[in-house]
Amino acid sequence: MSSDIMVYVELENGQPKRTALELATVAADLAAHGGGKVLAIALGPNAAGAADRLGRYGVDQLLVSEDPIFEEFLVDPHVDLLARLAQEFEPQAVLFSDSADGRDIAARLAARVGAGLVSGVVDLVAHGDHVDAHESIFGGNFVTTVEVQNARLGVFLVRPNAFTPKESPKSAAVRTLDYTPGDDVKRARRGRTVLEEGEATSLEEASVIVSGGRGLGGPEPFALLEQLAAEIGGAVGASRAAVDAGWIPYAHQVGQTGRTVKPSLYMAVGISGAVQHRVGMQTADTIVAINRDPDAPIFQLSDLAVVGDLFKIVPALTAEIKRRKGA
Ligand SMILES: Cc1cc2nc3c(=O)[nH]c(=O)nc-3n(C[C@H](O)[C@H](O)[C@H](O)COP(=O)(O)OP(=O)(O)OC[C@H]3O[C@@H](n4cnc5c(N)ncnc54)[C@H](O)[C@@H]3O)c2cc1C
Repeated sequence: MSSDIMVYVELENGQPKRTALELATVAADLAAHGGGKVLAIALGPNAAGAADRLGRYGVDQLLVSEDPIFEEFLVDPHVDLLARLAQEFEPQAVLFSDSADGRDIAARLAARVGAGLVSGVVDLVAHGDHVDAHESIFGGNFVTTVEVQNARLGVFLVRPNAFTPKESPKSAAVRTLDYTPGDDVKRARRGRTVLEEGEATSLEEASVIVSGGRGLGGPEPFALLEQLAAEIGGAVGASRAAVDAGWIPYAHQVGQTGRTVKPSLYMAVGISGAVQHRVGMQTADTIVAINRDPDAPIFQLSDLAVVGDLFKIVPALTAEIKRRKGA
């Protein structure tokens, strides 16, 4: 087994997602501890184009395949190729983002190569010959330390936004993999992809988020949040209460059963601050809450607490920002 750390890179339009840069950052720290390298794997069209960006975040080598099968087919080809690479390179750990795709691939990979799998990872600590994972459980109320035993390889699903991408410039060498997929991996093919309205906004990547909750009272007031978000270059999020009421699509939900976000600024508007909401946003750099209840739990973790009626405060805030931008 080597001290190398492997990272599976999720791509968007040929570029690594922010979560891939987070993984590269933690992988660089882990690899440095054991004197190993960071090997990233990017699969799909224009995957080699991700090398420059990944190199800036500590990746030593980018292994790519631009075979169209990675665009057309579901998990099987990814698992097949990753299993081969895990056997060839014998890394200490393989890191995935704890996303829908990451979970699909990582679980199958771990089963295929007999690795230990840990999900919900919020921290990773190198210990020479192995890596310990800190896993967030029970809605973020407990953090457990998990050690992979009786398996040579640890496969870790790392929560988006658990790490902040940090540049440690290298120039990632690109190696194009010689991969010819067999028929056995051509099982399920993607048919039609429908983008749900609002899905285009990637909350996980947004640096400013304005979220609304039950306090909005209906779908229409979300227009107020959209106007505010548009002025400050933000995305619109929501509590589960607002999503369950059908006021806004699920893609916007922040929290335990929604997205985990880590923006520079998170504005919680008409959201009480239930623990299941907090676990999805509590690591935001700055939290501003607008709530008419001075005892709302959200104020316990907010940097700025605005007590008042959101229907007065939000339009006034948007107008003031517009005025200052115009000045
Ligand atoms: C297993 C499980 C998973 C869950 N996952 C999630 C999750 O992922 N995300 C999530 O958000 N929740 C989740 N929940 C639900 C969570 O427990 C809360 O019910 C939910 O977050 C409440 O949403 P809310 O804050 O919008 O509503 P409420 O708790 O009803 O709060 C509304 C707030 O609006 C304020 N308000 C009302 N009118 C105004 C006004 N005019 N101006 C200013 N403020 C006003 C009120 O004072 C109140 O604080 C989950 C629950 C369970 C059991």
